[in-house]
Amino acid sequence: MAIAIYPGSFDPITNGHIDILERASKIFDEVIVVVLCNPAKKTLFTMEERLGMIREAIRGYENVSVDAYSGLTAQYAQAKGANLLIRGLRAVSDFDAELRIALTNKKLNPELESIFLMTSPKYLFLSSSTVKEIASMGGCTKGMVPDFIGERLEQKYQELANA
Ligand code: ADP
Repeated sequence: MAIAIYPGSFDPITNGHIDILERASKIFDEVIVVVLCNPAKKTLFTMEERLGMIREAIRGYENVSVDAYSGLTAQYAQAKGANLLIRGLRAVSDFDAELRIALTNKKLNPELESIFLMTSPKYLFLSSSTVKEIASMGGCTKGMVPDFIGERLEQKYQELANA
């Protein structure tokens, strides 16, 4: 069984993430999206909100599931018996950070192999941060995130504005 984990913040999950997931689901027997709880990173959506959105987004994929984790990715993989870790690569600017993460994970868990899938051209400049920036200023995020996530973003910024 080729079990792969796809770790990240997913704040929120975007069509770029979903594209990587869809492609990974065709390559591996099982894919687990792991939403990492990183206390150093302030997120717009809570862990529960992010998990809920991912659950809705992956509904059509039989071999994709989602989980939350608050420790090291390398430890999570070990506990799950997963030897493969998927990350998406966009521009060259992603490379430095990804190399650092991959080598650190390898040191912590030598069995863990990082595999990089190249972004699809239409998602080259898409990130959760970009989507949040657009939504926070009332812009349209259609095509960047599923429609239901676009609505959640609108709601969230409205709530923040009214708070
Ligand atoms: P992190 O905070 O760990 O970078 P993200 O949620 O931002 O987590 O991203 C998770 C993974 O998805 C990373 O490997 C990132 O490079 C990848 N990714 C994000 N956006 C895209 C995209 N548009 N195309 C391909 N991969 C992407």
